[in-house]
Amino acid sequence: MKIICIGRNYSEHIKELNNETPDEPVIFIKPDSALLRNNAPFFIPDFSTEVHFEVELVIKINKLGKHIPVEFAKDYYSEIALGIDFTARDVQNNLKLKGLPWEKAKGFDHSAVISKFISIENLELNHLNFSLTRNGNLVQEGNSRQMIYNIDEIIAHVSQYFTLKIGDYIFTGTPSGVGKVNPDDHLIGKIENQTMFDFRVK
Ligand code: ZN
Repeated sequence: MKIICIGRNYSEHIKELNNETPDEPVIFIKPDSALLRNNAPFFIPDFSTEVHFEVELVIKINKLGKHIPVEFAKDYYSEIALGIDFTARDVQNNLKLKGLPWEKAKGFDHSAVISKFISIENLELNHLNFSLTRNGNLVQEGNSRQMIYNIDEIIAHVSQYFTLKIGDYIFTGTPSGVGKVNPDDHLIGKIENQTMFDFRVK
């Protein structure tokens, strides 16, 4: 199982980090040891003083595929979840300055929170609201229609480079509002009005 993540997929988030808008999807991968599930607490790692939350829609691949055309991409997933792409922003900024890969900042243990999955059957996938609250305050809010590359385009692009296997996860990018987590924070993520995850930071 692999966790494929898309960076810079929402314009407002690109602006808040002063990044350039990419002319193709930005892709990185987290190892399976990054997974954190079942509302388990997240422990801030010692090597960072600035771990950011990034709330993202996550899809699960349910069919083996390579070089998947956009028009067939919808055959490769049937469920969606909400996740957090925890990012050690201080570490990432250092690596970026040096032009080095982001893995230490993005792929560390438990940096990939994934909620339960729900069927996409009755959802308007290209018009899906999602949000993150911290300690009761709304910190991030997004709608899938704001994505630069939609889910099907992401699958088509990613599968040109990586064979997609059953059980692989794809994080689809974060909207604006990312920020630092602190010990004792309480994070709740929702898709529309449904609570998807509810856990604490330690
Ligand atoms: Zn992200």
